[in-house]
Amino acid sequence: MKPTPYSLILAGAGHAHLVAMRRWIENGYNPPQGTILLSPSPKAWYSGMMPGLIAGRFTSDECAIDLAPLCKACEVELVIGEIADLNAAKRRMKLTNEQVLEYEYLSLNVGSVPPQPLHNDGSISLAPAKPFAGFNEHWQVWRKRNESMQLVVLGGGAAAFELALALQKSLPQAQLSLICSGDLLSGYSRGLRHKAIKILDERGIKRHKNTRIDSIANGWLISGTRQILQAEALVIATGAAAQPWLASSGLKCDNSGFVEVSNSLQSLSHPEVLASGDCANQTGAAHSGVYAVRQGSALSQIIPALLDSDTLREYKPQARALALLATADGGALMHYGRFSAGGRLLGMYKDYLDKGFMGRHTID
Ligand SMILES: Cc1cc2nc3c(=O)[nH]c(=O)nc-3n(C[C@H](O)[C@H](O)[C@H](O)COP(=O)(O)OP(=O)(O)OC[C@H]3O[C@@H](n4cnc5c(N)ncnc54)[C@H](O)[C@@H]3O)c2cc1C
Repeated sequence: MKPTPYSLILAGAGHAHLVAMRRWIENGYNPPQGTILLSPSPKAWYSGMMPGLIAGRFTSDECAIDLAPLCKACEVELVIGEIADLNAAKRRMKLTNEQVLEYEYLSLNVGSVPPQPLHNDGSISLAPAKPFAGFNEHWQVWRKRNESMQLVVLGGGAAAFELALALQKSLPQAQLSLICSGDLLSGYSRGLRHKAIKILDERGIKRHKNTRIDSIANGWLISGTRQILQAEALVIATGAAAQPWLASSGLKCDNSGFVEVSNSLQSLSHPEVLASGDCANQTGAAHSGVYAVRQGSALSQIIPALLDSDTLREYKPQARALALLATADGGALMHYGRFSAGGRLLGMYKDYLDKGFMGRHTID
């Protein structure tokens, strides 16, 4: 297939690109002709509200951003497609539909996928938390079935905790278990962990810690040689793994396959490529929506400067970030540094922040 040339490809409608595009609209900046936003779907799901959607607190319309009006407002063409292969030396990418695109400049904001158990005989239905469109399909099937089932959430971070609570609320017939390879919420303060465990226990969600599930066979979740639990379905919320095509792209990546970038979000090997959000490895920035949003704000200035061969702005990640974990009942747990708290007011504050993000990026 003949390649289509573009001056700038914004690959992925992640948090960072949404924020950058919104800033461009506010500042009256129009990227050059031949700029596209490449997205597998015409909508971008907002992960911060996904657990609330499952818990029945939001509708799907409230949690997804329509990309066409946003693109129109900043004069960027929306192209629906998904990268299957990237060749950074040739500045060329192949999409899953075989289309070939070439670029002068590329900004990657393609997120991550949760790592899965190494061996799987297919006897348990797997539902990775990302991409959310796929997860949503599994959840709809479970809801319709409305039957007793063993549902296991794999993961020990905030997303696993929130999803377990939300699924327990949405599927009252299901027996929920949460399995993590280390301690639950290990990066958080002791106070927050204590509160989180209390909530899980009160809601009857079984916990297994220090249990790494490495294989699935005959309907069992297996750790080493130990059969841990039988399950009908497994939600994978195990954190962030890089998109597999990044490691073979020729871009300098870390050992986990994330694109290594400078504080200007510029690839360490290919200066015409930027990367932000979960797909990037910037020293000091965690893989979370909070850092992706901050990077997006910097990106709104970095991209125009890069195109004009100007000095690039630097973004230095903040040492701490506020974390708010939804508890599926309108409340939230809060963590900042060593400080933690919980309750309805924090839930209202989280809703205010999340709805604010959606409001800012929804263009009529
Ligand atoms: C259930 C859940 C709840 C979470 N809640 C929070 C929270 O409250 N706060 C927080 O800070 N973090 C939260 N996170 C983590 C957060 O989702 C990620 O860190 C954040 O989404 C990263 O944003 P991003 O900008 O990297 O891209 P994302 O927002 O992940 O978006 C990536 C985009 O790239 C697109 N894409 C993917 N593959 C391709 C491809 N091959 N080609 C083209 N496009 C592609 C996707 O369709 C998507 O639009 C949560 C995660 C989950 C799973």
